[in-house]
Amino acid sequence: EGSREKIDYVFKVVVIGDSAVGKTQILSRFTKNEFCFDSKSTIGVEFQTRTLAIKSKVIKAQIWDTAGQERYRAVTSAYYRGALGAMLVYDITKRQSFDHVARWVEELRAHADNSIAIMLIGNKADLVDLRAVPKEDALEFAENQGLFFSETSALSGDNVDTAFFKLLEEIYSVVS
Ligand code: GDP
Repeated sequence: EGSREKIDYVFKVVVIGDSAVGKTQILSRFTKNEFCFDSKSTIGVEFQTRTLAIKSKVIKAQIWDTAGQERYRAVTSAYYRGALGAMLVYDITKRQSFDHVARWVEELRAHADNSIAIMLIGNKADLVDLRAVPKEDALEFAENQGLFFSETSALSGDNVDTAFFKLLEEIYSVVS
């Protein structure tokens, strides 16, 4: 990632969802290809970036982390301002985190731009024996709400890049 590279677009993407679903790890997997076993070193860091190419344009993806604010339901509208995409994450082993997804969609509809592209993410897909949310339930919800959907594992890295690329391509097709 050369710093003198010409950037065609900067896309702000927010990562939201209940606490402990893996938002920080997904972000760190996507931007640094890392999984950090003792997490929460990101307190205070607002966003991380990764520069990539989509249809021969140079895109700087600026991925925002709530840095724990979601615990107090204190995610502010400043967080959503200018966001073109959202990764809405739940944990496939925690039913409650999936039950709260509808609330997060409402929050997005209330605070974010109408044209925001949303990807529903069922994370921790590596924990197959602990699954509490059937893939079909999430797929049905996503289809009803007009969201993209993917299951990921920030731990193994499975589908993390694919999900971000899909979302960023969608944003690109909206803005270009
Ligand atoms: P956040 O509060 O949503 O940002 O969640 P974190 O990223 O801090 O992750 C919460 C916990 O889940 C941590 O102990 C992570 O190590 C763990 N975790 C995150 N992603 C995965 C994953 O894909 N698989 C597994 N097995 N654990 C994960």
